[in-house]
Formats: sequence, structure tokens, C-alpha cells
Amino acid sequence: MMKLLLLLAVLAGFFYVMGAKRSRPRDPEQRTPPPPAPPQAMLCCEECGMHLPANEALPGKGGVFCSAAHRASFEARQGSA
Ligand SMILES: [Zn+2]
Repeated sequence: MMKLLLLLAVLAGFFYVMGAKRSRPRDPEQRTPPPPAPPQAMLCCEECGMHLPANEALPGKGGVFCSAAHRASFEARQGSA
């Protein structure tokens, strides 16, 4: 009787370990989808007001710009005024 209980305990432990192995992937990093990109700071072109992410903004005198052309025209206007 004690041997049967011991056998059951061993079997239960065996299946418990197998189940735990199966439910836990070896590399959880590969299973999870990549996190969404961090929110970009949105800036505003001083010339046309277009919103653009900070990494695409062109810094210039008086603000940031969507393009070199807008930066040039804005700075030209600032210089003349
Ligand atoms: Zn612009």
C-alpha cells in the first residue's frame, strides 16, 4: 500500500514537472511581441505649423522646421523684420 502511494506521488510529481516545462517556454522574450515604440515628442514647424516627430524636426533659429526650405524662409523673414 505504501509503495502504491509512493508510486502515485512520483507519477504526480513527474507529470507536474512535465506540465510546468510545457507551459513555460524556454525563451519568453521570443514569445512576447515587441513593445510598441515609445511615444515620440511631436513638434510643430514654425513656418507651416505641420506637426512632426522630434527625430524628423530640423532645428533652426527660433524653432524647429519640417524642411530646410521652411527653415530658410522663416529665418529670412526673421532677418528682414
Ligand atoms: Zn514647414
